[in-house]
Amino acid sequence: MSYPKDVDVLIIGGGPAGSTAGALLAEKGWKVLILEKEKFPRYHVGESLMPYCYFTFERLGVLEKIKEMAWTEKHSVQFVGRNGKVSTPFYFSQHFDHPASTTWQVKRADFDKMLLDNAREKGATALEETTVTEIITNEAGAVTGVKAQSVDSEVHEINSRVVLDGSGRDALFLRKTSSRKRDPMLNKISIWTLFKGAKRDPGLDEGSTTIAYLDGKGWFWNIPMADDIVSSGIVADREYLYRDTRDPKEIFEREIKYNPWIEDHLKSGEQFGEYWVTGEYSYRGEHCATDGLVLIGDAFAFLDPVFSSGVFLAVKSAEMAADAVDVALLEDGVVMAKDFEDYGERLCQAIEIMRKLVYAFYDERFSFARIRPANMHLRGTLTDCLIGNLFDRDYSELLAAMKDFAKLPESLSYGRAKVTPAAC
Ligand SMILES: Cc1cc2nc3c(=O)[nH]c(=O)nc-3n(C[C@H](O)[C@H](O)[C@H](O)COP(=O)(O)OP(=O)(O)OC[C@H]3O[C@@H](n4cnc5c(N)ncnc54)[C@H](O)[C@@H]3O)c2cc1C
Repeated sequence: MSYPKDVDVLIIGGGPAGSTAGALLAEKGWKVLILEKEKFPRYHVGESLMPYCYFTFERLGVLEKIKEMAWTEKHSVQFVGRNGKVSTPFYFSQHFDHPASTTWQVKRADFDKMLLDNAREKGATALEETTVTEIITNEAGAVTGVKAQSVDSEVHEINSRVVLDGSGRDALFLRKTSSRKRDPMLNKISIWTLFKGAKRDPGLDEGSTTIAYLDGKGWFWNIPMADDIVSSGIVADREYLYRDTRDPKEIFEREIKYNPWIEDHLKSGEQFGEYWVTGEYSYRGEHCATDGLVLIGDAFAFLDPVFSSGVFLAVKSAEMAADAVDVALLEDGVVMAKDFEDYGERLCQAIEIMRKLVYAFYDERFSFARIRPANMHLRGTLTDCLIGNLFDRDYSELLAAMKDFAKLPESLSYGRAKVTPAAC
């Protein structure tokens, strides 16, 4: 494999964020290099997409490919009480009359590979099995490139006019600069696995994402995928899950019994593969950009998987960052933190809306059923949130109504671009 010495754009990570930014910037004619530490296809959690991914996929030109891959169609999200009772599903098409209202439950190994190959088709170079180990800065503190190690242990130093960190929850830049701030309240862990042959609901609900409540501010997800596979996982407080054992299989099997809907749906299925565990749940970077570098996707922030917002925020943030990079390179030839002021503002505002909804979800007093009788019209606003319409919509009325039965957090003050006074 040959490693270039100088590029316009260097992207760390070939996940949905990195591939999206890579494709869009290569299409604009910039010399783009994506470095990915794994060999694709590789397993990744995060199979349930949000409808608003559609618009970025459309721009990437991958909608036909997605349809050809014949993944399970997702038309709705449904919530199930601790007693196993299902509340009326949120059907996206009832609120949003657009092809985007049908989205998908994808196998991330194939989905991520398709996006990375798409970036290659658009002109980006993507080198796998190459781990970025260092981010290089100049005397003024601006990022000027990276050091990366290929599978043969050789170290490559590559200069770039801008670096996009799309390293996911590894959050390379945030960890190296100790600027990853954990969310004060959303301190959860997750355990998940896969089933073959589990029960599916009929008709339109077959591909629905189900969120089933557990005690202890926890919940199960149930994501029906292609090939008769279901992804199922628990998210809950550490103390609750580890109360009598730390064995993930034992915990998973114990918790299934606490929600009758989950028990009923999984009992006919055969569990296979690992029991994966992740902690260090929700975080945001102190800054989304510094001179010469911008953070995209999980490398900047991760909320909580309850509303399946991860891939959407990854591809949308990558799209917005790519546009800002393109403008800066065209206008100034260099990319500074100030070029991401608008990016940081808009992204943090969108994340905050979702964050408040996540807090409400974990409030013992909150239930989606309670929002309906008094504020029927807000069901549409809520559906807007659940489909990912986070960037151009005013949610103040919904948030005000939710305050009656959930304690909502103050907005976090950090996450904007690190603009130094001299650069203003
Ligand atoms: C338990 C759980 C359940 C989830 N469920 C959902 C869901 O249902 N729906 C949803 O939308 N989201 C879900 N998510 C979130 C979703 O997985 C992420 O938000 C999404 O994958 C983010 O995309 P990304 O491109 O930012 O990061 P990733 O997809 O993580 O991609 C980052 C890439 O960077 C590479 N990389 C890392 N470090 C380096 C390095 N040093 N050098 C080179 N390459 C590197 C990695 O190998 C990886 O391929 C879930 C997350 C968790 C933890």
